[in-house]
Amino acid sequence: MKLCSFLDPSGEHRVGVVTAAGVVDVTTQVPAGGPGGPMRRLLAAGTDLTTLRTDGPVVEGARQLPPVPDPSKIVAAPVNYRDHQTEMSQDSHIAALGVFLKAPSSLIADAEQVVLPYHDRRFDQEGELAVVIGRRARHVRTQDAADYVAGYTCLLDMTMRGGEDRSVRKSFDTFTPTGPHLVTPEEVGPLDDLELHTWVGGKLRQRADIRDLIWAVPDLIGYVSSVMELLPGDIIATGTPAGVGAVHDGDDITVEITRVGRLSVTVTGKGATACPTRGKNSGPRPPAELTPAFERGRR
Ligand code: MN
Repeated sequence: MKLCSFLDPSGEHRVGVVTAAGVVDVTTQVPAGGPGGPMRRLLAAGTDLTTLRTDGPVVEGARQLPPVPDPSKIVAAPVNYRDHQTEMSQDSHIAALGVFLKAPSSLIADAEQVVLPYHDRRFDQEGELAVVIGRRARHVRTQDAADYVAGYTCLLDMTMRGGEDRSVRKSFDTFTPTGPHLVTPEEVGPLDDLELHTWVGGKLRQRADIRDLIWAVPDLIGYVSSVMELLPGDIIATGTPAGVGAVHDGDDITVEITRVGRLSVTVTGKGATACPTRGKNSGPRPPAELTPAFERGRR
C-alpha cells in the first residue's frame, strides 16, 4: 500500500491511497480529533492501512504534500555508513555521535524546489531512506521495532557544510524533501535487498545497499526511542552513504530506493545572501566535489 498527503483544489489537507488508476481520497476513513493533519491522525488511530477502502473516485487537481507534512519531529542519523565516514574524514560514527533533529518546517514535497539561502557557502545533497513511525514508541526493544514502523519514504537531507550545529545546517526551509509516498512495510519487503541511488544533474553520485547501515532501522528505533518519545508520523532519516557533493542553482536532484520510490527536486539560489555565521572553514571535512567512492573504483 502506498499513501500520500495532498491539498485538494479547495486547499484542504487530505490523505489518499495511490492506486494504479491514481490517488483515491480516504480522508473520510480517518477518525476525527487528535493532533495533526489527516496522515498523522490516520497513523495514530492504529488503522490497519491495508484495509483502507479504495473504491472511491480518483482525485483530480490535487497538489502533492510530503507524505507526513506535519510530523512532531524529524530525527536524523549523522554518520551511519562506513564509506561516508571515510569520505568525511570522521573519527566517529553514529555509535559515538547519537542523532540530531531537523526542523519539521524544512519539509517539502516531491517536485518542489530546494532554496539555497547563501551564495558564499557549500550545500550538499544527502540521499537517505526515511522511516515513518506508526505508533507511540518509548524504550522499544530492537526485536520489537518493526511493530512501530508505518512505512518508508525517500528523503534528501540537504546540508550546509561547515562548523555550525547540524540542527542549523540542515534545517533551512526546503532542506528536507520527502516522498513521494509513504510505502507500507509489506510492500517494501526486506530492507536488506534495497538499493539507494542519488543523481544530481543526471549524474550518479550515490549508490548504496541499505544493508550497509551501521545502525540498521531497528537499532535506530531502539536508540531514538530510548532518548525521546516517538509519535505517529515522526520521521527518522537513516543517514547517507558516500557520494555527497555540492549542489548549485539550476541543479536537479533525484533519489531512488528500490520499492520505496523516486523523489526529485530542483535547486535554486535565487535570493541568496551572504552567510551571517562564520563556520565556513570548520566542522566535518566534506570530500572533494564529484568524487563518489564508487567512481574511484572502491565499489
Ligand atoms: Mn544526513
